[in-house]
Amino acid sequence: MNPSVVSISRRLVCSLLLTACAIPGLAQEVKKQNIVLIATGGTIAGAGASSANIGVYQAAVVAVDKIMAAVPEIHTIANVKGEQIFQIGSHNFTNDRLLQLARRVTELLKSEGVDGIVITHGTDTLEETSYFLNLTVKSNKPVVMLGSMRPGTALSADGPLNLYNAVAVAASKEAVGKGTLVVMNDEIHSARDVTKTNATRVDTFKSPYGPLGLVVEGQARFYRAPIRPHTVQSEFDLDKIQALPQVDIAYGYQNMSRAAYDALVASGAKAIIHAGVGGGSVPEYMVGPLNEIRGKGVFVVRATRTGSGVVIRNNSVKDDANDWLVVDDQNPQKARLLLALALTKTTDTKELQKIFLKY
Ligand code: ASP
Repeated sequence: MNPSVVSISRRLVCSLLLTACAIPGLAQEVKKQNIVLIATGGTIAGAGASSANIGVYQAAVVAVDKIMAAVPEIHTIANVKGEQIFQIGSHNFTNDRLLQLARRVTELLKSEGVDGIVITHGTDTLEETSYFLNLTVKSNKPVVMLGSMRPGTALSADGPLNLYNAVAVAASKEAVGKGTLVVMNDEIHSARDVTKTNATRVDTFKSPYGPLGLVVEGQARFYRAPIRPHTVQSEFDLDKIQALPQVDIAYGYQNMSRAAYDALVASGAKAIIHAGVGGGSVPEYMVGPLNEIRGKGVFVVRATRTGSGVVIRNNSVKDDANDWLVVDDQNPQKARLLLALALTKTTDTKELQKIFLKY
């Protein structure tokens, strides 16, 4: 067929259907999604003294309108509106800020005029915020988080492309119903699984089971989908939560002592995640002290400090007899958030264990 006839008929189909039609040059005929970009700070909002400062810079100083202005390409794929909720490094996130962010995302997504959310965030605790949103935001609309490892002032800054890719994913139909997503370094990860694995490298975000997909030339390509419950299937209800119960983490190592655990109990912890060695092992001399803590009503949860893998109930320790819990494969920092939410629903050990195995 004559190429101009092909082009005219494609234009006709696209304008009739008004669907996302990925034919170059026809962008003006595609209905653009309305995306709200919520900025929270982090390195993506950072600035260094010179372009050679890759790892020495001040985080959380560049405002959302400047971050957006650096990537005008986002407006070719979506209508993007910026909103500055915080201007902090992600190590400064607290439970209260998490709740504030989750409530704002939920409120925005209730509006028919909002099709998706993109959130810029420091990379240090991005996995925690994204997991929390994955468990609490009651919407199928895309929520996509991103950050950067290098400030915008650095040579080969990674923020601009991460932002462009995140907007592309948030505007894609394929991202609907997949829970909170994290887009970094051209990869799309599930918030449930993703973790920061390296302090400085650009390819730091990894998921033990691999990414869900890739972003190629501004197009989201999914190859798998999460199956653990999230967002609309989750039982956790932000409307019923005023504050999160105190859940803390203590690290396992050779010659560890009970001091940190006792201090956490004294400070009001309702549960302690033991980030144990290997499969969540506990030194024999710590079993007694941890049972004393359990006797005070504080939950003891075995996790692993290895970064991935399952902690098996009753493997090297008698969890049933001790009335302790184990995580499934959640890392300690994600287990902390899941348990804090779970404790707003139940304080029954069996029910809490089911929640760990379900989510
Ligand atoms: N400290 C920064 C933060 O998490 C690091 C980053 O954004 O990469 O806010």
